[in-house]
Amino acid sequence: MTYEPVIGLEIHAQLTTQSKMFCGCSTKFEQAPNSSICPVCLGLPGVLPVVNKKAVEYGMLTALALNCRIVPHNIFARKNYFYPDLPKGYQVSQYEQPLAQKGFVQLEINGRSQRIGINRVHLEEDAGKLLHQNSKDNKVSWVDFNRTGIPLMEIVSEPDIFSAEAAKAFMVKLRDIMAYIGVCDCNMEEGSLRCDANVSIRRVGEKELGVKAEVKNMNSFRFLQRALEYEIERQVAELEAGGRIIQETRLWDEAKGITVSMRSKEEAHDYRYFPEPDLVPVMVEEGWVERLSKTLPELPDEKRTRFISQYQLPAYDAGVLTSSRELADYFENCAKLFAEYKMLSNWIMGELLRELKQQGVDIKRCPVNPENLANMLKLIQQGVISGKIAKQVFEEMYRTGATAQDIVKAKGLEQITDTQQILSIIDQVIQQNPDSVAAYKAGKTRIIGFLIGQVMQLSRGKANPQVLNKLLADRLKDQK
Ligand code: ADP
Ligand code: MG
Ligand code: ZN
Repeated sequence: MTYEPVIGLEIHAQLTTQSKMFCGCSTKFEQAPNSSICPVCLGLPGVLPVVNKKAVEYGMLTALALNCRIVPHNIFARKNYFYPDLPKGYQVSQYEQPLAQKGFVQLEINGRSQRIGINRVHLEEDAGKLLHQNSKDNKVSWVDFNRTGIPLMEIVSEPDIFSAEAAKAFMVKLRDIMAYIGVCDCNMEEGSLRCDANVSIRRVGEKELGVKAEVKNMNSFRFLQRALEYEIERQVAELEAGGRIIQETRLWDEAKGITVSMRSKEEAHDYRYFPEPDLVPVMVEEGWVERLSKTLPELPDEKRTRFISQYQLPAYDAGVLTSSRELADYFENCAKLFAEYKMLSNWIMGELLRELKQQGVDIKRCPVNPENLANMLKLIQQGVISGKIAKQVFEEMYRTGATAQDIVKAKGLEQITDTQQILSIIDQVIQQNPDSVAAYKAGKTRIIGFLIGQVMQLSRGKANPQVLNKLLADRLKDQK
């Protein structure tokens, strides 16, 4: 029997606002514990929260990028539960009238474009952080409220995803979109972006959805994909063995590579949602939406399409170069100065990205500026240096920040195009390798490669390859 998985994701993104969701406390990461707190985010009695307008706008921008309809009159609600890192005893979230609904993203899966529905985008506040110290003589738990009240945006997909791979691709896509808009720094290690995955299986061809399990809190793309692959297999095995799937929450254990049950439906909370009485509804006027949508930057898909048409780049190149806004800007700044776009793309995707990756450096801190890179490429184009020498020059540029011109001059790396100079090296090589020359004459013409290599070596890589090839071929002909 064949089954297909059905997946829906709930993604939490921390917004990059300077202050928290309902108070003026700073959202900076890694401050001294409990240094960024106030009576509002501590939930002390008698305080009155105020909605962070920037957070609402970030949510609206994201919603627009995800083709959602903004709910004109959206409200905050209390989600009640007890937990030691939740000082109020409830989390302020949105429930019945979320910020936005009914959107979609277009996803490319195995070369086919698929539309994945977005059920809703809503705003809420984060909880604090517990630290458990569990040494032999000191068992103690600490609570840090710095994170309490930090603005979160939750994006909920429709159950439109049908493989672990597609789930990962969907999350990558959301990450790219949010990073482009700048609403989330998308740092998964620091927990700025995390995901719960709902998954069920059903027989192929069946319309009705199966019972789902929810795998909580994955903070890497790889974990998400692995956890889903495991969970799908587990559910299939369960049904095949005559069992049934129960609705439950599970946790991904990365070390063991399995999901484990955390709580079942019977233990599920009843959150007793009700409208937050201390906050007024967010009234969204049409003009506000219009103004915001004008500030929306070019999004990854549009940029990719434009790169293909404007710079005649292959789709692959366009995809790599637009993987971040900063990298795309870097390319375009170079392209203003150097119009052989494919050659430029090759150098950025090859040498530049390799160096950056090896050193773990972000393109924002790239030591080679666009002007320097463009000037170096011009030196290749003008025949001043060979492509091979250029790699050496580039490395030096990357290490020292010097210009290509200065490096070439200081190290005497200009290509030799002078016929006499190359001929004299050729004659030297012919003299030193009589056997190879004889073999060439006897018809083993492939041996010319060896002789070219010898000349290159003697010229320390500087002989112009085209000139060298022609001169050597002529010389060998003369020898007959
Ligand atoms: P709940 O009320 O349990 O939180 P929701 O209807 O809010 O469930 O859906 C939460 C997420 O689970 C959404 O992303 C949705 O697409 C997904 N989902 C809902 N039902 C299923 C199912 N049977 N299989 C897989 N995913 C599902
Ligand atoms: Mg839900
Ligand atoms: Zn505060």
